[in-house]
Amino acid sequence: MTERLHLEDPGLLRDRLFIGGEWRAAGGTFDVFDPATGRVIVAVADADLSEARRAVEAADAAWPAWRALTGKQRAATLKRWHALLVTHAGDLARIITAEMGKPLREARGEVASGSDYVEWYAEEAKRAYGEVIPSHDARIRLVVIEQPVGVAVAITPWNFPFATIARKVAPAMAAGCTVIVKPAEDTPLAALAMAELARRAGIPAGVFNVVTARDPEGVGYELTTNPLVRKVSFTGSTEVGRLLMRQSSDTIKKVSLELGGNAPFIVFDDADLDAAVQGTMISKYRNGGQTCICANRVFVQDTIVGEFAERLSEAASSLKVGAGTADDSDVGPLINPDALTKVTRLVDDAVSGGAKALTGGKPHDLGGTFYQPTVLTDVGPDMAIANEEIFGPVATLFTFSGEEEAIEAANATPYGLAAYLYTRDNGRIWRVGEALDFGMVGVNTGLFMTEVAPFGGIKQSGIGREGGRQGLREYTESKYMAIGL
Ligand code: ADP
Repeated sequence: MTERLHLEDPGLLRDRLFIGGEWRAAGGTFDVFDPATGRVIVAVADADLSEARRAVEAADAAWPAWRALTGKQRAATLKRWHALLVTHAGDLARIITAEMGKPLREARGEVASGSDYVEWYAEEAKRAYGEVIPSHDARIRLVVIEQPVGVAVAITPWNFPFATIARKVAPAMAAGCTVIVKPAEDTPLAALAMAELARRAGIPAGVFNVVTARDPEGVGYELTTNPLVRKVSFTGSTEVGRLLMRQSSDTIKKVSLELGGNAPFIVFDDADLDAAVQGTMISKYRNGGQTCICANRVFVQDTIVGEFAERLSEAASSLKVGAGTADDSDVGPLINPDALTKVTRLVDDAVSGGAKALTGGKPHDLGGTFYQPTVLTDVGPDMAIANEEIFGPVATLFTFSGEEEAIEAANATPYGLAAYLYTRDNGRIWRVGEALDFGMVGVNTGLFMTEVAPFGGIKQSGIGREGGRQGLREYTESKYMAIGL
């Protein structure tokens, strides 16, 4: 059964590959589903290896002219694209909610946030500064210039189908790279709408390409092994990131990886408890718990754990679960049946091992892939739920008694993306903040994402940063020139 997606501008619902400035059919198609209804929205082109290669060649052909523009010229083009993204924010949000399931309010937030990256990097295009180094030799001058790395590939996940793309392609194009986007098979529609708006904005043919595929393996192989590709930027699971890094290694590509997390959320007994509960709610239940920086393990000091658990479960049980299109929904469906199976397995395993569900703990009565907002206590550090990314609306509570114990438990994971810390003690903020082995630490806030700051992880959570001035450097190479007088 097919459902109609009502857009103000129906031209934004595209179903073909966007290569070299043209919409092209592929040999086959695959269906894109609305996770809230299980219905098909549209069938999109299913690219194979040869189409991926064509996209690389188109991007490579477009590169010399794009890189030859001044930063100011590229900025002007990106600003036109940004303006169109803002103008069509309502439709973009509708597309995201339809293919991914998040509440419309959150989808609008995602469009705003993703568009902010485009605006920021449009501005940064003019500021790809190099360096003049005081020379070691009176007869030589030393200069470093930043040049675009070349054709860049962005492989992106379904949880933020718009923003994860914006965060990669905006700095890439600002730096003077051309890009090929391979969006997630569950959510290709936002990427295609972005391509349509890029076309309307006058981004030159071949500078921005989108290749959609049901099975990412073949296309992914081509994109990570083709020698014309000089940069691979990936957001997704650590397992796939590892594979793509391996595939990229034969041709020594520059890689950025934004991988899984296992975020600790530490609440000390001197914290503002209301703020800590609110922060946990934002960090945990935003996007239905399907973000890589979601609080995965909530550590609460033993002196306050009872009160905290009570307040948190009260807040969680008041969340409204429903289709993203309903105005009052706080939590949408999980992305697909596999996700539901995973969350159910992790919670059932924890409960059978002695954890208690203060609220939730089961799939939601709405059926489909909806799951109840859940709070679990008495979770053990060895349970699967404490070691795997939950990616669902399930908070797990652990207790600790002192600072060192909290730091040790928080760091006991191969992941190192985001961590959170609630305390009013200034010394503790610095001590614990510096001791946490994570790329980002939110202190007394559950939300820290912004285009002006570097987002990214350490350890097995990734390499490289998105956002801030650091984000541009992911797409440039430093060239050192020694100039004899
Ligand atoms: P998630 O667990 O969030 O679905 P994945 O790592 O499976 O994350 O997927 C993230 C992105 O990586 C998606 O665009 C997906 O199509 C892509 N992907 C998955 N497997 C491969 C692969 N073997 N080669 C290239 N891309 C892949």
